[in-house]
Amino acid sequence: MAYDFDLFVIGAGSGGVRAARFAAGFGAKVAVAESRYLGGTCVNVGCVPKKLLVYGAHVADELEQAAGYGWSLEEGHFDWGTLISNKNREIERLNGIYHKLLVDSGVTLLQGHARLTGAHDVEVDGQRYSAERILIAVGGWPQVPDIPGKELAITSNEAFYLEQLPKRMLVVGGGYIAVEFAGIFQGLGSATTLLYRGDLFLRGFDGSVRNHLKEELEKRGLDLQFNSDIKRIDKLDDGSLKATLKDGRELIADCVFYATGRRPMLDGLGLENTGVELDERGYVRVDEHYQTTEPSILAIGDVIGRVQLTPVALAEGMAVARRLFKPEQFCLVDYQNIPTAVFSQPPIGTVGLTEEQALEAGHKVHIFESRFKPMKLTLTHSQEKTLMKLVVDADTDRVLGCHMVGPDAGEIVQGLGIALKAGATKQQFDETIGVHPTSAEEFVTMRTVTR
Ligand code: FAD
Ligand code: NDP
Repeated sequence: MAYDFDLFVIGAGSGGVRAARFAAGFGAKVAVAESRYLGGTCVNVGCVPKKLLVYGAHVADELEQAAGYGWSLEEGHFDWGTLISNKNREIERLNGIYHKLLVDSGVTLLQGHARLTGAHDVEVDGQRYSAERILIAVGGWPQVPDIPGKELAITSNEAFYLEQLPKRMLVVGGGYIAVEFAGIFQGLGSATTLLYRGDLFLRGFDGSVRNHLKEELEKRGLDLQFNSDIKRIDKLDDGSLKATLKDGRELIADCVFYATGRRPMLDGLGLENTGVELDERGYVRVDEHYQTTEPSILAIGDVIGRVQLTPVALAEGMAVARRLFKPEQFCLVDYQNIPTAVFSQPPIGTVGLTEEQALEAGHKVHIFESRFKPMKLTLTHSQEKTLMKLVVDADTDRVLGCHMVGPDAGEIVQGLGIALKAGATKQQFDETIGVHPTSAEEFVTMRTVTR
């Protein structure tokens, strides 16, 4: 049977664009449907605008530190509107680049909501298309717990478009987004509270990292409230919001921001017209080749709920394009040792096993840990400390994990990711010559086992 397309991709986000472009480059006839914005979450309401706001918040630090270096500056004034409109301009530029990338690679771009009508059929705004294979790359959407007044709260989607910088911000959650945005709003001047239901935020990260970041955020005046959760939100007469906590306390804020995880974006997708099944967490079930339970349909990225990071969605998109249309170049995505950063202030960079994971996996470990004041801050009043930590297998000497909290942690950990992928030992770290004077050199000069 002749189909309209070899591959029909639903969603022009990180994973979908990568798969579509490369599939078309390998000679396939490809269409992409996108209902909202080219580039998906990462480009429009995720990684990119978030990092621009993080840079904006960092300027406050730089201004404060300037005096130590002899610079006297007049009182600075921050204008949220300027930052947001400059950010919007940059996102529009990136949307244009994504459009060009797709069109130039020969992909048919369909703007509209796509709905599956069968195992090989998709409908976009009333128009039907057939395809030999369909790739679901629809990403995720913020999830807010069902509490009275939840409609008064915002999520990351809205945070990027607030008309004004809230004077008092209440951020709920203890994951990547909560920690990053609490830092952004605090850095830009909002009095910020971070509310998390557990004992300590960033569950799953290394214990030393979590504790170190907690101390650093407290030094900056961020109000951290753990073991706390909201029961209801009410609007007061003056327009501010009252959050009543489960323990009866009341907090007043101008904005309540929920960052309590993301769900797969399956709204109106028409999965019921196919044999695609969901897993027990509600994500699309796939095998190691991203094949769903419907043979002609594949899925990648956030919608499969494995590792919700852009570079992972890109790798999955690449793997699909290669397996289908360039099998000689195919290789499985390696989910081990994925480096990642939390762009908090100071940021976290991490790759490999945490101390807790290593112990749980049965490794006997040597821990190397170092805390120091970064050189850049020595002439300033800042009391910020950097943390670096290596988790080493005591039997094989292999470095199992590298963790850092401090300036440029994300930049530093990228290179360490290559070392871990190559199976580097602590001895090889020790034999590597440092770059001096940097913070990064500490990773190759830690000699004494901490525990
Ligand atoms: P998406 O990028 O979400 O793309 C899905 C696309 O599908 C969207 O454009 C959507 O409009 C479209 N779509 C959905 N349904 C349909 C339909 N039925 N028809 C047509 N189109 C449809 N990751 C990092 O690695 N680093 C970071 O710093 C980082 N920061 C983040 C910050 C925030 C605030 C958020 C929310 C996420 C962040 N992420 C980050 C995660 C990253 O954005 C995602 O992992 C990544 O975008 C997932 O890519 P995807 O292709 O699966 O989906
Ligand atoms: P996360 O899954 O990282 O964190 C969700 C947080 O919300 C957890 O602390 C969780 O608590 C808490 N939570 C969940 N449900 C509730 C509830 N009902 N009530 C109160 N608290 C709740 O999700 P995020 O939204 O922060 O981010 C989504 C994903 O996007 C991340 O996991 C990451 O993969 C990606 N991302 C990556 C970034 C980066 O690379 N820098 C930046 C931003 C996002 P508990 O731990 O107790 O379950």
